Amino acid sequence: MIPIDSKLPSVGTTIFTVMSRLAADLGAINLSQGFPDFDCDPELIDAVARHMREGRNQYAPMQGVLPLRQAIANKYEAYYGRRYDPDTEVTVTSGGTEAIFDAVAAVVRPGDEVIVLEPCYDSYVPAIELAGGTPVVVSLTFPQYAVDWDAMRRAVTPRTRMIMINSPHNPTGAVLGPAEIDRLSALVDGSRILILSDEVYEHIIFDGLRHESMARYDALAARSFIVGSFGKTYHTTGWKVGYTVAPAALTTEFRKVHQFVTFATNTPVQYAIADFLAVRRGLDELAPFYQAKRDLFLRLMEGSRFTPLPCRGSYFQLMDYSAITDEPDADFAIRLTRESGVASIPTSPFLYRQRPPTVLRFCFAKKDKTLEDAAARLVRV
Ligand code: GLN
Repeated sequence: MIPIDSKLPSVGTTIFTVMSRLAADLGAINLSQGFPDFDCDPELIDAVARHMREGRNQYAPMQGVLPLRQAIANKYEAYYGRRYDPDTEVTVTSGGTEAIFDAVAAVVRPGDEVIVLEPCYDSYVPAIELAGGTPVVVSLTFPQYAVDWDAMRRAVTPRTRMIMINSPHNPTGAVLGPAEIDRLSALVDGSRILILSDEVYEHIIFDGLRHESMARYDALAARSFIVGSFGKTYHTTGWKVGYTVAPAALTTEFRKVHQFVTFATNTPVQYAIADFLAVRRGLDELAPFYQAKRDLFLRLMEGSRFTPLPCRGSYFQLMDYSAITDEPDADFAIRLTRESGVASIPTSPFLYRQRPPTVLRFCFAKKDKTLEDAAARLVRV
């Protein structure tokens, strides 16, 4: 046996695959991994099939097909008031996770520090480590999951190359507001810090809040890779199509990595999404659609011993289970799947410094019937 000195010694199989597998093995209702259990618009499937039949089945250009890049650029202009050049500032990727990896690999060097806010999505820290960078973890406050700006200031050093942010936030559903944007702008002003803004839940935002894209702000947009995902927006997580918009100089470096990670993303799906996005189909319905699901789930959970934490965006609802048990979150998530037949996600895989709190993440991107059946089981716990 040739010994392997792992580059990621503390990484196992992601919690999403672990919990979805456990749910399948046990026949449990799966509110763990974030994906809808309902289908996308059938016309979107027709569009993919049409593009396939019309022969769009070979490699796309590495930066993505032009109609999709144009549609993305037009959306940014219409929603956030910034014009990105489809030729030099928009790149289609095989999902948001690829985009995050590419951006980090493109600009982070050994010795660079990258600030992440925990709980943070499980791919961030491995991406930084593979690039040779040093993750600097700042904890969001509990239970508001707000940014501690004093801690952020203390975390910034001359070696800080990037800050990774995520709003609406996975796994907590927290959302950055205008006050946070001001603090972030002040923090990076005059520095060489780049921002990786994971905005994959941009259209899933509730209670009348406005999505504060980095694209809205000149000084922030000038230093930002913004990552988006069509899986979340079009209920097609399995199609794995996302994108990055960034100023040309950043995009040039980004594409150098992207073209050697996946080269290009699958062609007919890009054309079909372009058809929908060009007319902005399905975007504005998303927030009310998911807000109704959040509210249904919360209503169904009233009278349970789970206490909801505020969820202002994304399709995840955190629930505090301290009234039930004080066992560690991963243990309880597994026991809940086995004994009550509902799978969830613990937040510990998203944490590095903080002691994991007694909360679990439930995905409400599910048919109403699924949420009803799951809640009926959870209220008995
Ligand atoms: N983003 C999804 C979630 O948070 C999971 C994606 C994945 O499984 N890699 O549940």
